[in-house]
Amino acid sequence: MPARVSKARGEMRATLPNAALRIAYQRQLEKLVDEMHRSTLYWLRATYRARQGEIVQDASPARDLADQLARRAKQWRRMFADRAPDLARTFIAGVDKYATSATKQAAVALTGISVSVKDTLVSNTVMQASIQENVSLIKSIQSEYATEVEGLVMRSVTAGRGLQQLTDQLEARYGITRRRAKFIANDQNNKATAQLARARQLGMGINKARWLHTGGGKNPRHSHVLANGKVFDLSKGLKIDGEYIFPGEKPNCGCVGAPIIPGVDDETE
Ligand SMILES: [Zn+2]
Repeated sequence: MPARVSKARGEMRATLPNAALRIAYQRQLEKLVDEMHRSTLYWLRATYRARQGEIVQDASPARDLADQLARRAKQWRRMFADRAPDLARTFIAGVDKYATSATKQAAVALTGISVSVKDTLVSNTVMQASIQENVSLIKSIQSEYATEVEGLVMRSVTAGRGLQQLTDQLEARYGITRRRAKFIANDQNNKATAQLARARQLGMGINKARWLHTGGGKNPRHSHVLANGKVFDLSKGLKIDGEYIFPGEKPNCGCVGAPIIPGVDDETE
């Protein structure tokens, strides 16, 4: 258990990720995955039933089936590429709105003075980078699924296996894809909240924060537990395991930063 760290005088509460935003994003990603999987199964069942005899006897239908699968994968690739920018933009805009208002509220709670938060080069850069990262991740959900499904179908046809066994394998693959979508929604919500809150804090003239290990994660990193309570530069991060990182940046990291308002407290590193 990390040691309790007494709160410094100028310390604001940390902006924690918003669960409603995570769930909404997760549902949208799952919906896309569900559509793709249903369509793949539907097509495969119809194809297998129509050509059962050939599929188990002959090698030539495998080539034809591979071509058809590749065409379908291409359609879904286009579908994901079409939808990813909107999904990512809506998600990141929601996180930014939440992180900005939570940061403002935390500042008011501490100082009693309300602040206005303007868009800055840093906040715009962080937003664009977060949107791009999410677009790539959404597209990768489709490409990984397509590669795996192609492998499963081809091995099944080559081995002359029936549709039932293939369907079972595809269902297992679908489960993995769905869990990946859930992981992306959670991990990106943590990261984007931390990064956008930090960008907004820098925009308010806050330069330092205290690293807080919240103990929420299932497998906390020992080095992050040790970092609990340390003050770091909001533009640079804290040096942990040989590199400068920010709270929440590493996969499954539940650490957060509590910003310190300058002048209220004189503590330094
Ligand atoms: Zn951590």
